[in-house]
Amino acid sequence: MAIAEKATFIDEAEIGRALETGLRRGVGEVREVLVKALEMKGLSMEDVAVLASISDPDLLGELFTAARRVKEHIYGRRLVIFAPLYVSNFCGNDCTYCAFRLRNKDVKRRALTQDEVSNEARILVESGHKRVLLVAGESYPNEGFEYVLKCIDSIYKTKSGPGEIRRVNVNVAPLGMDEFHALKDAKIGTYQLFQETYHRETYSRVHLVGKKRDFDWRVTVMDRAMSAGIQDVGIGVLFGLWDWRFEVLALMQHVRHLEQTFGVGPHTISVPRLEPAIGSEIATHPPKPVADIEFRKLVAIMRLAVPYTGIILSTRETAVIRRETFALGVSQISAGSRTNPGGYAEEEGGITEDGQQFSLGDHRSLDEVVRDIAGLGYVPSFCTGCYRLGRVGKDFMDLAKPGDIRMHCDPNALSSFEEYLSDYASQETRAVGERLINDTLATMDPKSRDVSRKLVERVRLGKRDVFV
Ligand code: SAM
Ligand code: SF4
Repeated sequence: MAIAEKATFIDEAEIGRALETGLRRGVGEVREVLVKALEMKGLSMEDVAVLASISDPDLLGELFTAARRVKEHIYGRRLVIFAPLYVSNFCGNDCTYCAFRLRNKDVKRRALTQDEVSNEARILVESGHKRVLLVAGESYPNEGFEYVLKCIDSIYKTKSGPGEIRRVNVNVAPLGMDEFHALKDAKIGTYQLFQETYHRETYSRVHLVGKKRDFDWRVTVMDRAMSAGIQDVGIGVLFGLWDWRFEVLALMQHVRHLEQTFGVGPHTISVPRLEPAIGSEIATHPPKPVADIEFRKLVAIMRLAVPYTGIILSTRETAVIRRETFALGVSQISAGSRTNPGGYAEEEGGITEDGQQFSLGDHRSLDEVVRDIAGLGYVPSFCTGCYRLGRVGKDFMDLAKPGDIRMHCDPNALSSFEEYLSDYASQETRAVGERLINDTLATMDPKSRDVSRKLVERVRLGKRDVFV
């Protein structure tokens, strides 16, 4: 099979037509799409355009209700937790929105040594994290791509007390086939990359220098990753650069292309919004700002359009927005994050936020975030079971689509949460968490309850890393 080299699957004219048609649809047609969405089989581009045109407050309420129902049915009350680990902020590109851009002289550059990477991983392990997203700028001084492979190895090798990082996801610049084969051998979880904007003209306006200027090389990256055998890929848009409706439809085209080519779509979609960044005018004044209400709308639409794809929200967002969007469809969140290389060690030493990529909207510790979301009734999950058992890519989706994945996710979420509570939580968080675990067990169907209770008991008796 020839690997795509051009972004022929992103068709701006088709997006334009769909958006225009969507705007002409009446209330009845919007409601038809909402009924279809509740079948949880996903939506077409045209359907998504219809939902994107909603402005009537009643219909908006109905959209949110539908998204809540789908989220609840597929994901229950679970929220997967991860932390980013920034290893280097050297970069050969000049993306006008990012503090790491080549010509920004106001940011202190740093590439962590392997000892420093291990130290960052240790701090994350000791706070209770099990999943890490490795992040780097697009330039690896001296060592080239080998540097990233060494960092992954250092993270996996770090052990502290009863803990370790069990899944390393990676967000680094687009790679060629050989590098993707090497990433697969390094046993990464998801390869993640955001297109930033699918709108070509905007893309060339905001990417001034470096390899990232090549729109086609970036947009075809998941074709190379999947051809090299990486089965879980994550796509995304940096919202605020171009009209969000266009971007959501383009995401749908990208999903459709991957499904048609590889039989499975992306494992996750990330929805970052532009945040202020040192040395970036555009980050403070986004050309196409996405208001909070529109942001909630786009999360709800994505939930209905691709019900089985995880939606990731980062600490770019405030605690308030994070809470609102959990209910609408977000299934994974970062917590306790630092976005500068060495940020966790600096924080431990009392230094803050030098050289960070963008401003954080949520500064709370992992323990505080866990307590907050558990208090809201969501089960923080540190589960890495599917990845470790090889339930990835199409195998994962084949279980997810008929709804069978909850047989695994629900018990594993509870056992991994119990592990967190026993080993890392403050007393206050532990009390909230134990109450939630007991309440959740009480409301489960008998079969899941039996499996879950046994797993949780094993953790309470001292077993670690148990999953089904
Ligand atoms: N250098 C690689 C790249 O550009 O794909 C990977 C790492 S980059 C640090 C990760 C992501 O950060 C980018 O894809 C972009 O979407 C996001 N980002 C950059 N500047 C941002 C800002 N000001 N606010 C929010 N997100 C930002
Ligand atoms: Fe470099 Fe990525 Fe930032 Fe662009 S977004 S300047 S490629 S780190």
